[in-house]
Amino acid sequence: MEQQTDSSTPTLDTAPDAERERGEQVILEEFGSREEFMNALEATIKPFEEGDPARVSVLSMGSHAGTHVDAPAHYLRDGATIDEIDPDVGLGSAHVVHVEDAAIVDPEHFDDVDLESVDRLLIRTRNSPALWHEEDFVDTFAHLSTEAAEHLAEADLDLVGIDYLSVAGYQRNETPVHRALLEAGTWILEGLNLGGVTGGPVELACLPLKVEDCDGAPARALVKPE
Ligand SMILES: [Zn+2]
Repeated sequence: MEQQTDSSTPTLDTAPDAERERGEQVILEEFGSREEFMNALEATIKPFEEGDPARVSVLSMGSHAGTHVDAPAHYLRDGATIDEIDPDVGLGSAHVVHVEDAAIVDPEHFDDVDLESVDRLLIRTRNSPALWHEEDFVDTFAHLSTEAAEHLAEADLDLVGIDYLSVAGYQRNETPVHRALLEAGTWILEGLNLGGVTGGPVELACLPLKVEDCDGAPARALVKPE
């Protein structure tokens, strides 16, 4: 059987920690906690106490925390919300484009891909092997140029995924890149770690949490070579 790769970034380390005080609030993941990304993930992990039949913890996270899907409503006032996503958007065959060193992904990086035959496109950049090991948010991550986003929007894809917290450059082209894709009906999957994946066809399994009326939601994403 082919190996399934968990391409989700570790959002929460929810293993109970014996050293932890009961009900202690622990910020388990500060990654990308800059306000713009609203990625702070906090968890109050409840340990078993003597006599407890079960335990229930409390999680708090931004809608764009860790690996997550952007709904059209992230940028479009009348756009679909995350609970309205067709589950098939994140389930099925996908194509991984391996962009080696570029800081900015341009239309020509897709020259070798037959976009007409692709429904879901995942972009592996230099981010995957480098940035997920960093403790802090790195604002120089590789991202799509506006032209690349417009090029992909024309291809009428169901989903575009990328291996850091935004498809667009930090405080650069966020609005045109997101709008181009979302207006084209292309859902955006951000925060992937594609370090275990090379280019080519894969099977993607990705489902965002069903949060009513929300602009996005964290997701688990699994990638399996075809
Ligand atoms: Zn997002």
